[in-house]
This record gives sequence, structure tokens and C-alpha cells, in this order.
Amino acid sequence: MLTKRQIDHFRKRLLAELKEIEERNKEKVEELEQETNDPSDKFHGDEADQANFSEERSRLLRLRDRDRKLINKLHETLAKIDGGTYGICESCGTEIGAERLEMRPVAGLCIECKQKQEEREERDKALKRR
Ligand SMILES: [Zn+2]
Repeated sequence: MLTKRQIDHFRKRLLAELKEIEERNKEKVEELEQETNDPSDKFHGDEADQANFSEERSRLLRLRDRDRKLINKLHETLAKIDGGTYGICESCGTEIGAERLEMRPVAGLCIECKQKQEEREERDKALKRR
């Protein structure tokens, strides 16, 4: 079982990560909004400029999408800490182990279940390719 101290430690790490992502996103979103609201050059530039701009924009949106998923994951994990189920494998119910959580604090599966899941995903991908 994780000790109270370990759990506090992981909670701090999760909260720190959450804050970092949220701040990073805030900056990005503000940047994006400023550019979008800026009626100068960018929209009246030549086509190459506009292409660059929308490429950058979709890159940012993709980043936000990935971060949003991570943010959700972090919230879920923090809820598990509050609910007292943190560090327990969602699939088989064994303890995930502090060592694995140290490497990946949002892990919801023990290493064995994770490997099985990855193998399954690989198989699915291989099937889809055919
Ligand atoms: Zn498991």
C-alpha cells in the first residue's frame, strides 16, 4: 500500500503538472487569440503567409487537444487520490507500485495490464492495416 506520505508526494506532482499545462495553454491560447484578432498583415498577406498561419494554428489546436486529454487524465487521477483508489490497477485490482507511479504518476494500470493493453492495441493496428 502507498503510505500517506507517498500519496501526498504524488498529489503534489500531479497538481504541479496540471498547473504547468494549464499555464502553458493559457499562453498559447492568448497568443492564438491575439493573432486571430489582429486584423493586420497576416490576413492581408500573400497566400504563403496565410498558409503558414493556418498551419501554426492547427498545430496549436492539436497541442491543445493533447493537453486537454492529459488535463482530464490528471483530474481523474486526483479524484482517485481523493477516493482512496489511487495506485490500484483499474483492470486487475493489484497495486501498481510506487516505482511505476514515480515514472508515470497518472498510470491507471499495473505494468502487466498495461503491456497486455499495448499488445492488444498493436494487434488491432496490425489488423486495421491489412
Ligand atoms: Zn493490472
